[in-house]
Amino acid sequence: MIEGGELAERKQFRAIKGTRDIVPPNSALWNRFEEAAREVFESYNFREIRLPIFEPTELFARAVGTDTDMVSKEMYTFLDPPPLDLLQGSPEQTSAAFLSQGTDPVRREAISLRPEGTASVVRAYIEHGMQTKPGDVKWYYVGPMFRRERPQKGRYRQFYQIGAEVLGQSDAPAIDAELIEMLLAFFRRVGLNRTTLYINSIGDRICRPKYVELLRQELRKARDQFGEDSQRRIETNPLRVFDSKLPAEQPAIEKLPHIADHLCAECREQFSKLKGELGLRGIEYEENWRLVRGLDYYTRTTFEVTAAGLGSQNAVCGGGRYDGLVELLGGPPTKGIGFAIGSDRAILSIEESGSLPRLPGLAVFIAWMGEKAYPFAVQIARKLRATGVSVELPAEEMKFKKALGLADKLGARYALILGGDEVASETYTLKRLSDAEQRKLGETDLLEYLESERRS
Ligand code: AMP
Repeated sequence: MIEGGELAERKQFRAIKGTRDIVPPNSALWNRFEEAAREVFESYNFREIRLPIFEPTELFARAVGTDTDMVSKEMYTFLDPPPLDLLQGSPEQTSAAFLSQGTDPVRREAISLRPEGTASVVRAYIEHGMQTKPGDVKWYYVGPMFRRERPQKGRYRQFYQIGAEVLGQSDAPAIDAELIEMLLAFFRRVGLNRTTLYINSIGDRICRPKYVELLRQELRKARDQFGEDSQRRIETNPLRVFDSKLPAEQPAIEKLPHIADHLCAECREQFSKLKGELGLRGIEYEENWRLVRGLDYYTRTTFEVTAAGLGSQNAVCGGGRYDGLVELLGGPPTKGIGFAIGSDRAILSIEESGSLPRLPGLAVFIAWMGEKAYPFAVQIARKLRATGVSVELPAEEMKFKKALGLADKLGARYALILGGDEVASETYTLKRLSDAEQRKLGETDLLEYLESERRS
């Protein structure tokens, strides 16, 4: 009979809904993807900033806006210090303790897992006094973000972004264009080819509020053609009505005024210069008047890149200008623009297109036989690994046939055979597993041969 305690111990844990493991060999593809981003971004003189995973909830509330889904519904928020040790006591005791919290004298701060990276970048820019440094600050970040969304293909609760931001005194359209050029150079580098770039301008502090008011008036007139969500947004954030994918709402949305017809002279000029700058770089784009971004801090340029093979969640990157954000967070007047790539989706699209990079994997399986061979096996494994060759050294002796069988199953390209003969003659037998070609090599030749194979 199984006791209750034993049963409890046998509970199978699973990754929390909306989170997942990135398991080898897939993780190698992820590393490649992130390395490529680092290489391309560094070549544009961007440098990496490593940011905290959690920040004060208020930072996101201010930067992103409290009437966005991201802040109002999707953040993972905690009290710090926690009101009680959640791991102590039964669930009943825990909820009882929560309920009696009213008398708790400790001052607690609400902190949230970051749902996006820009707010932290701007906080760091201000905190480190970056405005006093020469030139524009060009930073990128790589890492997980957390949003409590409804999970589906390409949409997770823990997902990964690679973002880049330019902060400084200039809002020259050449900055926007170069940032977009860098993004597309990265996508080309990783084989994400079937993409479309959409651009738009959403005006500035002068023309945007007037347009938003006009939009609100038009939306109020057509109110009965919209569902509950959109009706609420008419009052809270009318631009977000454009995000609606509900088929029933589309005819009414199509009739709404376009921001392009309501930009002030400066914003119009900026937008047309941006298109010129993109043309100069041979970058193709489509204008999309519905591209407004749900976040409050964007001004002027907005852009999005979609990729093939992803179904409804096909946006792989979103970005735009946010000239008021640094000031909003208590810093000096500063211009800013940035983007965030959704790595999960970008990698899914690369996988679906079949244009996967060749990953090196395991090069050498050492088939050692006999106690005398073992110390030589340990030595040669160490030397090969020092030159960057991937080596599997079995911890226990195996029969020859079994060793070669395992080498094959592990996908090794070579078996390095080390038995009594090899020890006696101070050579190694290297067997290529794809065609069983065998060669006998001394140590120096072996190291040279495998190192050059690795580089090719
Ligand atoms: P945003 O910060 O909302 O502009 O998102 C930028 C990019 O991050 C999007 O274009 C997506 O590729 C990706 N992204 C956003 N939310 C999720 C999510 N829940 N799961 C996976 N990727 C996401």
